Amino acid sequence: MSEKEIRVRIAPSPTGSLHLGTVRTSFYNCLFAKKHGGKFILRIEDTDVQRNKDEYTKEILDGFNWLGIKFDEGPYYQSARLDLYRKFAQKLLDEGKAYYCFVTPEELDELRKIQRAAKVPEKYDNRHRNLTKDQKDKFISEGRKAVTRFKLPDNTDIKWNDEIRGLVSVNTNDLGGDPVIMRADGIPLYNFAVVVDDGDMKMTHVIRGDDHLHNTAKQIPIFEALGFPVPIFAHAPLIFTHDREKLSKRKHGDIANIDKYQKEGYLPEAMANYLVHMSWTQPDKPEEEIFKIDAVALKFELSRISKSSAVYDLPKLNWFNNHYIKEKSLSEIYELSKRFLEKDLNLSIYPKDQILKMIDAVRTGLNKLDELPGLIKFFFNDEFDFSRDEVASSLRTENGRRVLEKILIQINLFNFQNPGDCKNKVDGIGKELALKGKDLYWPLRVALSGSNKGPDLGLIISLLGAEKVKSRIEKALKVLV
Ligand code: GLU
Repeated sequence: MSEKEIRVRIAPSPTGSLHLGTVRTSFYNCLFAKKHGGKFILRIEDTDVQRNKDEYTKEILDGFNWLGIKFDEGPYYQSARLDLYRKFAQKLLDEGKAYYCFVTPEELDELRKIQRAAKVPEKYDNRHRNLTKDQKDKFISEGRKAVTRFKLPDNTDIKWNDEIRGLVSVNTNDLGGDPVIMRADGIPLYNFAVVVDDGDMKMTHVIRGDDHLHNTAKQIPIFEALGFPVPIFAHAPLIFTHDREKLSKRKHGDIANIDKYQKEGYLPEAMANYLVHMSWTQPDKPEEEIFKIDAVALKFELSRISKSSAVYDLPKLNWFNNHYIKEKSLSEIYELSKRFLEKDLNLSIYPKDQILKMIDAVRTGLNKLDELPGLIKFFFNDEFDFSRDEVASSLRTENGRRVLEKILIQINLFNFQNPGDCKNKVDGIGKELALKGKDLYWPLRVALSGSNKGPDLGLIISLLGAEKVKSRIEKALKVLV
């Protein structure tokens, strides 16, 4: 008999941008499906009409696309499946496993107040579980609208063997009372739609964040009531900040959203490595080992995902990104950075091969691609601020004047095609003036680039070319007067 096909899914709700946590869980699902030759499915859980936005759906789809996360099926949209949820809700009603509840929001508020005053957990008290026909008719004649609630078993431990957390047990008394599964307007709630879909789409495993533990305890009885096999669950820890707060858009703004990283020039390979490594270690490799997603899939085990919370660590992400930037060819970096470069620099000033050399000179220090224009902009723009202390002290010296004047005199002797020659010529001038090190180089660096730090001086001279070197030195000499 052939083994059952593994089927997993990611099911984002378009009520916000694509969250780092969702992406991390997507990688786990994707790796798990690959490892087992299974299927990975995308489902958009768009039943919250008040909070859904089409732009979020687009952002989510674009985000997955950018990350190179591919799906075998989907996207399926819950909004296109409303009839199915209604059919299954009706089935539960017919079988007495669900019921209409006519309690008004005011009555629920009142209940909550009493519970709060009595210092007991707030929960719905299941008061409409067993209404008679007369009671129901009376509520209907009052014009009340009914939600559908699922009858949870009372005081029962719902247990499952979680692939990450081990044995989990949640008592139904701690679940807030019978959950609403359908609103009065016939729209399903998350805990119901998700079960109908996971059952109908034959999910074998549900891998998601551990903020869903209580939901799982509600969902297992619903799977059983609908006659679906209960999938195997794996709850991965959430991402926290260093100060132990759950990473959220509300508190931490854009750092929780994947599109921030896309916009700033992080590479998808770096995001994948960083996010997967947050809570997962390879069996036979050190923690920071760089991986290719296909190779890692072979070794992927849910049981190696840590139970303790993951910590958001920007320097580590930058480390991964810097690594992948260094692995790219110069043309690739150029193409990937073009949107940033074009925004800030007039690229037409230089031929492309010169720009590639500039990129080459600074690439090792790049954390992210949007830093690139700032690092090479001095090639394009000579509006330097010579008044800054550290710059002024390098330039405004008697030696500075001597170096710059001498270079102007000998400028025609430089071979601008050859950075090594340019550097040698500068050193030769240093010998003539009995100057070396920062006394020699810094005034020139500052005159040419506005800073006493930066890429190789010979390369700067060679890339700028005779005309720019001359005009920048002349400009700097005026400051020295
Ligand atoms: N739509 C749910 C969410 O975004 C899906 C949770 C699940 O994977 O079941 O949190």
